[in-house]
This record gives sequence, structure tokens and C-alpha cells, in this order.
Amino acid sequence: MHEYFHSISLPYCRQEQWIVEGSATWYSLYFDEYGIDIQNYLYNHLDEFDLNNTDFEHVEKYIVSLNREIDYAVDKINLLNLFVYEKNLYNPSTSYAAAASFIGFLISQYGEETIQNYLFSHNDDFINLDKPYEELIIEWKNYIKINYSSYG
Ligand SMILES: [Zn+2]
Repeated sequence: MHEYFHSISLPYCRQEQWIVEGSATWYSLYFDEYGIDIQNYLYNHLDEFDLNNTDFEHVEKYIVSLNREIDYAVDKINLLNLFVYEKNLYNPSTSYAAAASFIGFLISQYGEETIQNYLFSHNDDFINLDKPYEELIIEWKNYIKINYSSYG
């Protein structure tokens, strides 16, 4: 799904690395049903994997707070953001997860249509966001810390 998304979005997608990989990662969360099944298995069987105890500390607290099994189709955004928080991945240019989380944050702030128009347009006069990238990164980082530190 990730590579398929690249193949259909390539002619339209802006060329920044975080946009190319972040959009493919973000939209795979919605449409990759095989991947969703794998994630459900992984998150509901964390004890079967040989993981470092601290790797999924926040995720485990999140699962406890849900009082039900993980339903990846429902929990995907929280799990993505928890992963970013837990691993301190705040550079969308070097992490697919960070890039996808950042895109999700932008969608929550500007709406899906505005962000799709931004991500998939080569026309520089078409649309630009009202704040510079660096400022949006700071806002996204604060958003992650405020919303996900409570699972620590
Ligand atoms: Zn890719």
C-alpha cells in the first residue's frame, strides 16, 4: 500500500522528503487492511514479542486506559503519536512515523482538504500554510507532549 500510494501520488506530491514519505505512511494507515490486521495482532500480543521493556511503556498504559483490546483502525492515530512521543521522533525529515504524525497534526489544524491541496500541488501560488514550517513543528511537538505525556 505504501509503495502503491507513492506510485499514484508521485505526479502531484511536493518533493520534500517529509511530504513524500509522511503522506504515504499516513494514508497507508487508512487503506492498508492487511497492515491494520498485522498492527492489531502486534499491539494485542506485545507480551509474545521479545521487546525491550521500555519500548512500549506508553502504549501499554494507553491500552490499560482503554480497558479493551486495541482496534488499530480506531486507535491508529493515538498509537502513531504515542510512538513518536515514546521514541522522541520530532524530525519529520528523518522519520516516516514523525512525518505521518506531523501530517495528521496539520490535518487536525487546517482540515483534510486544505492539507491535501498543500501536499499534492506543485503550484507554489496555489496554497501555502499561514505559518512557517519551523513554527508548525514547534506547535506539533507541543501538541504531542501535551496529549501523550500522561501515558508516561
Ligand atoms: Zn516510501
